[in-house]
Amino acid sequence: MATETPTRALFMLFGGTGDLALRKLYPAIFNLYKKGSLSKHFALVGLSRKELTDDEFRAKIIDSIASETDDKAQAEEFASHFYWKSHDVNNLGHYAELRTIADELDKKYELEGNRVFYVSMAPQFFGIVAKNLKDQHVLSENGGFNRLVIEKPFGRDYESAKKLNDELTSAFNENQIYRIDHYLGKETTQAIPVIRFGNPIIESVWNQNFIKNVQVTLAESLGVEDRAGYYDTAGALRDMIQNHALQIVSYLAMDEPNTFVDTEIRKEKVKALESMEIYDAEGVKQNFVRGQYGAGDGSPAYRDEPGVPKDSNNDTYAAGKIVFNNPRWGKTPFYVRSGKKLAAKQGRIDIEFKKPLVDIFAKGTKQPQELQSNVLSLLIDPKVGIVLNINTKNSEQGFHTETVDLDYVQSPERAAEVPLPYERLFHDILNGDGTYFASWPEVAAAWKFVDPIQHLWDATQPDFPNYKPGSMGPKAADDLLARDGNSWYYPNVR
Ligand code: NAD
Repeated sequence: MATETPTRALFMLFGGTGDLALRKLYPAIFNLYKKGSLSKHFALVGLSRKELTDDEFRAKIIDSIASETDDKAQAEEFASHFYWKSHDVNNLGHYAELRTIADELDKKYELEGNRVFYVSMAPQFFGIVAKNLKDQHVLSENGGFNRLVIEKPFGRDYESAKKLNDELTSAFNENQIYRIDHYLGKETTQAIPVIRFGNPIIESVWNQNFIKNVQVTLAESLGVEDRAGYYDTAGALRDMIQNHALQIVSYLAMDEPNTFVDTEIRKEKVKALESMEIYDAEGVKQNFVRGQYGAGDGSPAYRDEPGVPKDSNNDTYAAGKIVFNNPRWGKTPFYVRSGKKLAAKQGRIDIEFKKPLVDIFAKGTKQPQELQSNVLSLLIDPKVGIVLNINTKNSEQGFHTETVDLDYVQSPERAAEVPLPYERLFHDILNGDGTYFASWPEVAAAWKFVDPIQHLWDATQPDFPNYKPGSMGPKAADDLLARDGNSWYYPNVR
C-alpha cells in the first residue's frame, strides 16, 4: 500500500462531548493517526458549553478510543494533541478566544493554517456556528484550507434546507462544505462507481434495455430506541430515504463522469437526481407507501415506545418507486424502502435484469425450463459483497436449468480491517475530496422529490399501525411492486 504524506490540520469540534463525537468521531480520527494520515502535526479543540480541563477532556478521549487502542503510550500521545474550550455558540467573545487558541495551536504544531470545523450539534446550530466563525475571523486567513463539516439532518424540507444552505454559503464556499452522509462512507456505496464504470460487462447493460428494476433496501431490526424526541419529528422518509437512499440511488443512476473527480461526479449525480419525476398528490398515493409498527412478539408498538405520543402518525417505514425521466432509465423503476423493527438489519441493492427476449429453453426441450432473471446484489450491511445470480444447467441426469450465485463476500478477517465509514470520510475531508459527500444541488433535488410526499402524508390520516415487528413492512409495499409485475428480491433471495 502506498504511504501518504500526513495532512497537517487543526480540528475544531463543536459538540465535543456529544454522543456522536465520543462514539464515532474520535475513534475515526485515532485510526487515521495510527495509519499515518495524521502525524505530530495535528491538534483538536473540543467545544461545548461544558467546563472541562484539558486533562479531563483527554481522559474522555482515551476512554472513547479504548476499543481501537492496542498501545497505551500511543493513545496517550494522541490524546495530548487535544484541548478543551468551553464555548457557547451564541457568545461572540468565545469565538474571539477560539481564534487566539487556534492561532497558538497552529504555531505550536506547525499546521500551516489548515482548519477543519466539524459541527456535531443539533441542526439549529449549524448556521450560526458557520456565520460566527466567519464574522469573528476564526477561519484561517494565511492560505491554509478551511473546511466545514455538517452533520445530518440537512433541513426538514426544501425551504429549511435552502435557508440553512444560504447561511452556510454566506461564510463558506460550496467546495469548502462537507455534508456528512455516513452511508457514503460505507465500502459498498464507495464501490458502486468502480463496479459500474470499471467493468464494461456491467456498464454496457446498465440501462432500461436490460434492467427490469432496481431495489434499494435499508432495513433496521431495531425500533426507535431512545431517539423518540428526534425521530418522531422526522420519520423514515426524512431520516433515511431523502438522504441515504437517494444518495445511493444517485450513484446507481448517474451517467459516467468525464473523470473520477468530485466536481465531475457531482455534476452527474445532480443530473440524475434532477431527472426524478416529482409526483403530484395522485402520484404520491400510487407510488409511495408509509408504515408504522404495531406491537408483537413481546415488543411494544411504536406509539407505546418511551417518548412517543400515543396518537403519533410518524412513519417508521417508507417505501416508494422512483421514475427517471431520462434516456438511460425511462421505463425502469427504482424502488427504495427503509424501516424500523423489520425482519433483519439489511442494507442492500438488488438489480433485477430482464429475461432473454426469446427463451429457447421454454420450448424444444423435453421438459420446458423456466429461466430466472439475473440479479446482481450489492451487499452494504451487515455483510459486504457482490453476488450475481445467473442461470446455468444443473448437474443431475437429464436437462434442467437452475440458478447459482457467483459471489464475493468479504471475510470477517478482511471486514475487521476495513476502515469505518467516519474514518473514510475524515480521510477524504483532509484530502479535500468531495466524492462521497452530498453537494447542495443534490440535497435540493432530493428535498424537491420528497416534499410532495411528506406534504400529502402530513395532510392525510394513515391507518396505523400497519405492520408487525419482525416482518418486512406493510403489505402495500409488496402490492406497489406487484402492480408493475415485480417483487422484492430480499428476503426471498435465490
Ligand atoms: P448530543 O446531544 O449528544 O451532543 C450535542 C453537543 O452539543 C453536546 O456536546 C452539547 O454539550 C453541545 N451543545 C448543545 N448546545 C450548545 C450550545 N448552545 N453551545 C455550545 N454547545 C452546545 O448530539 P449527538 O448525538 O452527538 O449529535 C450531534 C449531531 O450529529 C446532530 O446533528 C445529530 O443529528 C448528528 N448525528 C448523530 C448521530 C448519533 O449516532 N449520535 C448519528 C447521525 C447523526
